[in-house]
Formats: sequence, structure tokens, C-alpha cells
Amino acid sequence: MRIPFIAGNWKMNLSVDEAVDFLKAMKDKLPDPSVTETAIAASPLFLESMVKNRDELPLIIAAENCFYEDEGAYTGETSPKALAEMGVTHVIIGHSERRKYFKETDDVINKKVHAAFRNGLTPIICCDETMSRRESPNKISWVVSQVTNALKGIDNEQAKTLIIAYEPSWAIGSGKTASSDEAEEGCYLIRQTVADLYSDEIANQVRVLYGGSVNDNNADEILSQNDIDGVLAGGASLKADSFLRLANFLQK
Ligand code: 13P
Repeated sequence: MRIPFIAGNWKMNLSVDEAVDFLKAMKDKLPDPSVTETAIAASPLFLESMVKNRDELPLIIAAENCFYEDEGAYTGETSPKALAEMGVTHVIIGHSERRKYFKETDDVINKKVHAAFRNGLTPIICCDETMSRRESPNKISWVVSQVTNALKGIDNEQAKTLIIAYEPSWAIGSGKTASSDEAEEGCYLIRQTVADLYSDEIANQVRVLYGGSVNDNNADEILSQNDIDGVLAGGASLKADSFLRLANFLQK
């Protein structure tokens, strides 16, 4: 049984004080993690304060990115080792905004996935799909190649703990959510790729999320799909009440 995973990605939003207020608003309102796991990915500027202020909250604190080396002369980068030491347990890797604005390649993303595992962090690997790729005849192969390249050299034990998000960039921040069929198609493809690379057993353990304009009006239909184990929400995770509605969706 895959435990649903509801995650927020704050991107470059909010302040440290707002982050702490958000955590206070979560008190006694998050689902039991044996039923639904919840996570917030935040700027590295807030992570230490969030880990300290989390108290007993069943909320995973995640980074939005990390570098692929543990330490060294890499000005401005975030060390995966330091994240783990700080109490961060998960890290988003390969978000479409990193691919687009920071020119992250599949090779860099693969190195980051290795760096995350090396430091005991669970990677949340994002897989993009632009509208033009979606409409082109070989649209399928880009999703497959992103997953395949991200997972090069990742062993079975590591693979079964993975979280992979299907995040078509045309649906991100656009208010234009993928239909539940489109979201399921992308998530199914990711799971099939994992099955081809590893085994059906491992593919059945990997959690696959959908991200792109998710909110509490469309989460219901998206979360009812077979291969969708949760969501990665941007805008809808910035306010405590809307994140809580998503987090508690499956208890209704
Ligand atoms: P929105 O929910 O704001 O579209 O962002 C999705 C996203 O990029 C999550 O990583």
C-alpha cells in the first residue's frame, strides 16, 4: 500500500516569519502520517527555522533543490550534507523551473539524485512536459527519458523509496490544470518506466505525484486516479488553510 503524499512547494515565496506562522497554523490539523504524509518544500533560508519550529508536527520539511557535491568551492550552492545535518529529509530535484531558468540537464539531475541518496535524503524527482512536447508525436519519450536519465546508477533499494512528480510546465502557475486523464497518463507512464527499469514490485512502491495548478477544487478528481499517489502544489500551498484542505482531502 502506498501512503499518499501531499506536498507543497513554496518556491521563492514567503518570509521566515510567515513560514513559522504557517507551521503554527498546522498544529493538530495535519493527518496522521500513517494515513497521509505531508511535506512543505521551502527556501534554504527558512529550513533551519522550520525544522526547529516544527515541534511534534507530522510535517516533512523538504528543500527545493540541492547541489550534487557535498562540500567545496561552489559559491552560492546548497550542500545536501548540510541539509541532512539540519534535519531536512527530502529534496525536490529537477523541477521544471530549475531546468528552464538554471539550465539543469538530465546529467546534473542524475548527479543530484545520487547526492541526495548519499546523504540520506529522499529525492522528489520532477519530470516536465511542455505543451509542444506533449503535442509532438514523440511526446511520450521525453517523460520516459527524464525518468530514465535521472535514475541512472540508482539501485533497487534506493528506487523503491523514490517519489517522482509529473509536472507539465504548461500547467504550472497557469491555472490550467491537466485533466485527470492527462495527469493519470503522465503518472502511469512514469510508473511504467520505473517498472521497465527495475520491476513491477518496485514500481508499485514508488509514489508518483501530479503537480500543476492543483487546488482544492480539482484535487478530488486528480487524487482518485490509479497511478496518482499525491500532489505537489505550488500556489495552493502558500496559505495554511488551502494547504490543510489538500492535506486532509483523503480523510473526508
Ligand atoms: P502551481 O501549483 O502553482 O501550479 O505550481 C506547481 C509546482 O510547480 C509545484 O512544484
